[in-house]
Amino acid sequence: EKLKESLAKTRDNLTQKVEAIFSFTTQIDEEFYEELEEALIMSDVGVKTTQHIIETLRKNIKDKKISTPDKAKEELKNIILDIMKKDKNLSIIPGFLPAVFMVVGVNGVGKTTSIGKLAYYFKNKGYKVLLAAGDTFRAAAIDQLEVWSQRVGVEIIKQSEGSDPAAVIFDAIQAAKSRKVDILICDTAGRLHNKRNLMEELRKINRVIEKEGSNFYKETLLVLDATTGQNALFQAKEFLEVSDVNGIVLTKLDGTAKGGIVIGISNELNIPVKMIGVGEGIDDLQEFDPEMFVEALFE
Ligand code: GDP
Repeated sequence: EKLKESLAKTRDNLTQKVEAIFSFTTQIDEEFYEELEEALIMSDVGVKTTQHIIETLRKNIKDKKISTPDKAKEELKNIILDIMKKDKNLSIIPGFLPAVFMVVGVNGVGKTTSIGKLAYYFKNKGYKVLLAAGDTFRAAAIDQLEVWSQRVGVEIIKQSEGSDPAAVIFDAIQAAKSRKVDILICDTAGRLHNKRNLMEELRKINRVIEKEGSNFYKETLLVLDATTGQNALFQAKEFLEVSDVNGIVLTKLDGTAKGGIVIGISNELNIPVKMIGVGEGIDDLQEFDPEMFVEALFE
């Protein structure tokens, strides 16, 4: 229900149009496909992904000899589910412990908030969590993460502004080992405008994790802002040039009509959306559940 509420704007945009198409269609013809295509594109599913969906739908409708709008709708849901689920590890739960999560993303997308919410999420599951203030570029980033650490009730490893992010992560790994931490979540600076620097910085951090935390399960999470729509996809591609990414945290789904971007991201990047942000509160970060998402979108 919370998910349905959060997706209210996307539902106004996408769901209502799709509903109208399916309820007014008596036969599956060219006009039907055209209208559906337009509705998907308008809700930020993206041109490429929309074409993939429409082509697959055409083929399946033909192969399975589907003639009613109801069955066509089921087929559409299944195609979208398949895009979001197939061959993807959707779970945020680490493969083994201890684990280290590197969190990347540009400023403003909701990275700090998501780290705080994620720490809360893991803490509630009984894990011992530690934060590392690896975004040393801005003093505000360190302060803000500290506020979250207090709010959640987890410890934080930090140094002063301008210090070497890799040194902070080194400290944090040592602390994680000696304090028997289960999950270490590391903030990083997201300065995409200087890709070479960012790449170097992430590489250095990765080397520290590989060397010092070689027994740690490691994942890199990319935080993207759903309200930026297609631009989120563009940003993700830029990050993929400098870093490997295992999962996406998609924020601010509650405030946007562009929720279709989830489908576009899953399709074009082949990286699972693992968590979604549905509000500003501490517990407004949910595991992404494709079934629930599709149900919320298409009733
Ligand atoms: P950062 O610069 O990437 O670290 O971004 P912040 O974590 O400071 O977040 C920027 C703003 O987005 C803050 O006002 C957050 O409260 C807000 N925000 C983050 N995630 C969400 C979300 O899922 N939904 C909503 N509505 N706001 C969010």
